[in-house]
Amino acid sequence: MEAGIVGLPNVGKSTLFNALTCSQSAQSENYPFCTIEPNEGIVCVPDDRLERITKFIVPQKIIPAVLKLVDIAGIVKGASEGEGLGNKFLSHIRQVDAIVQVVRCFKDPDVIHVSGTVDPIADMDTIETELMLADIETLENALSKAQRTARTGDKDAKIRVAVIEKCMEHLAKDEPLRTMQLPEAEAAAISSYGLMSAKPVLYVANVSENDLDGTDPLVLKVREQAERAGANVVCVCAKLEAELAELDEADRVEMLAEVGLKEPALHQIARGAYQALGLESYFTAGEKEVRAWTIPKGATAPQAAGVIHSDFERGFIRCEVYTLSDLETYKTEKEIRQAGKLRVEGKKYIMQDGDICHFLFNV
Ligand code: GDP
Repeated sequence: MEAGIVGLPNVGKSTLFNALTCSQSAQSENYPFCTIEPNEGIVCVPDDRLERITKFIVPQKIIPAVLKLVDIAGIVKGASEGEGLGNKFLSHIRQVDAIVQVVRCFKDPDVIHVSGTVDPIADMDTIETELMLADIETLENALSKAQRTARTGDKDAKIRVAVIEKCMEHLAKDEPLRTMQLPEAEAAAISSYGLMSAKPVLYVANVSENDLDGTDPLVLKVREQAERAGANVVCVCAKLEAELAELDEADRVEMLAEVGLKEPALHQIARGAYQALGLESYFTAGEKEVRAWTIPKGATAPQAAGVIHSDFERGFIRCEVYTLSDLETYKTEKEIRQAGKLRVEGKKYIMQDGDICHFLFNV
């Protein structure tokens, strides 16, 4: 799963992205980022449940869930018509699973705003509009193709035509596709088009250093607008995060306390993106490693096993499952088993966020 960072020029994207990647070079356990390409990084999804598990099961290694972040530069008004790096930008967005949009809420006379004033709502509209215009173009092309095929009597194409028209009506109301609920079969009919306004979004409000909680009226407006667009908001001061990222662990803890933060806001971005993507984690826990594995919400036990290895899915027999609260109550797996709390689940089991599992398989 991949999330793309977007935003207008000068909103703090690079500052934020560099804070993510630079913190990796600090080699701190709390900032385990790594750069793959200049504009790509792997970000760990901090999860305190891992530490809670390791109080009872002490492993050699702790492995958190990860997410890939891509810094997508180059959006300007008119991108859908090829302005700026328009087409390249849009093709990058098409490839990611979720969009993390940085909007500028900080005021700083030394940092020029592309359109003259700090107006995060206008920034949000600008990007959403470009995505919607690009979707309209994609759908128009797809429609004429689907109509031609439908005329030959092709049933699937007829369904496609109907769904495309439904999407176009929605867009014509100036609504992103994200806010439209489609039955699974209809969503599948258009899934190959990479429609961009349908992708989940997380807004990152880049706030001033003196407004870390995001109480400025501008930030409140961002929250309202995000809610209407079916998205969440995380408040971050990119400048502060960049400074935090360069400190060693002890100094970082001290600085966080000074500014009144419990953790770097970067952690919230990772968790927020994970959530926007509809992901959750289950755990495997043993002496070798305690590890979080990423699955889509609603995954079955065999699908979850398949994330570890495709053989596990193919040869799935059953799994043994317990919860973190079972572990905290009974302290060891043996005690959990003796108390009759170790559940045995089969192929139809729907995984619950935070399940701790052993899979039994046969290949
Ligand atoms: P990008 O074009 O969106 O990648 O923006 P940059 O990250 O390059 O930031 C543009 C300018 O804004 C730089 O001079 C940054 O130092 C500055 N900047 C970024 N974040 C903040 C912030 O939170 N507060 C202030 N005052 N300046 C910031």
